Amino acid sequence: MPFLCPQGHPLKPGRVIVGWSPCVCPPCAERGRGLWGHRTYLCLTCKDEHVTTMCYLPYHVPSEGAGYRWP
Ligand SMILES: [Zn+2]
Ligand SMILES: [Zn+2]
Repeated sequence: MPFLCPQGHPLKPGRVIVGWSPCVCPPCAERGRGLWGHRTYLCLTCKDEHVTTMCYLPYHVPSEGAGYRWP
């Protein structure tokens, strides 16, 4: 679990909502078979400030040839 959101808030129990985002980008695919995706962390301190900050583990990397990265 990341300890700080990008805004510098501590992500501790009760201040974060943990979720799951299915994905097939390279960092996800490297984790092996089965469930591919990112663990997501929504910072509730940011939410209090009306900012949506979502962190992804592993970090999301758009895959080559995904259709939205043309040279
Ligand atoms: Zn935050
Ligand atoms: Zn991804």
